[in-house]
Amino acid sequence: MLTDEELEKLRKAGKVSGAARELGLSMVGEGVKLYDVAQEVEGYIREHGCGLAFPCNISINEVAAHYTPDSADRSVFERGDVVKVDCGAEIDGYVGDTAGTVEVGTKRFTDLIQASKTARNTVAEFIGAGCPINEIGRAVEMSINTAGFKPVVNLTGHQIKPYNLHAGLSIPSYDDGNNSRLEPGMVIAVEPFATNGEGRIKNGRPGNIVRIARDRPVADPKAKEFLDYAKEEFHTFPFCARSCDFPDAEKHVKTLLRHGILTGYAQLVEVKGGCVSQHEYTFYMSGSRAEVTTLP
Ligand code: MN
Ligand code: MN
Repeated sequence: MLTDEELEKLRKAGKVSGAARELGLSMVGEGVKLYDVAQEVEGYIREHGCGLAFPCNISINEVAAHYTPDSADRSVFERGDVVKVDCGAEIDGYVGDTAGTVEVGTKRFTDLIQASKTARNTVAEFIGAGCPINEIGRAVEMSINTAGFKPVVNLTGHQIKPYNLHAGLSIPSYDDGNNSRLEPGMVIAVEPFATNGEGRIKNGRPGNIVRIARDRPVADPKAKEFLDYAKEEFHTFPFCARSCDFPDAEKHVKTLLRHGILTGYAQLVEVKGGCVSQHEYTFYMSGSRAEVTTLP
């Protein structure tokens, strides 16, 4: 179990993440820049005494995850877009990871959006210490199938450990037969994705998100200075050039990618081009009924 002090950090990071998520979702509208939403969400997290556990992901329609606008991105939301906002705050490595989905101006995808939300909320009613992992997947799959959609089977929830966003356990959105049980004190993100496509994602184009792959010497002194800044600011977490308060961050990210010191994440795209919705909470296994940490 976490100490009182650790739990306080987890709860604060969670609350700030939840409020940042709601702020981001409330800003999404026709003609609004993706850039402005990402900047506001991350600004809110930092203004509330937290670091970024990862860049604000803003993924639209068939893109399930892993897109964040870069500084030059002038793109805007369009009527009919289905928009996922996924954001995370951290304090001393304790993370809140949370996401929601909204539709811009239309109501064509209300049921799809509700499907991932209901799946997540169903899990929230029973998840806790002692819960078999496959019961979560079974509930998610049943809930999404009942609504007439498919869960995305190759995207999973995950355990979170300090400074490690995807650590240890994976929590699939189907029953994979893994009946090992969640343990008291674990931090678990549950994030069902629902789609009207096939129910699988593949890698697409780069999405501007990177992490440190191999920490090794850098010849260019400015690039080295940038890497030191990134380690100090983002620790082991994923980040992007836009979130860096450092001159020519884009250029240095490119240099470090070329040298294999950074690695980039691809956007995750539904294989049949299906529309995707996502809802995510982080839970603390405080007892047989877990606590949601990412309520605003
Ligand atoms: Mn997330
Ligand atoms: Mn997650």
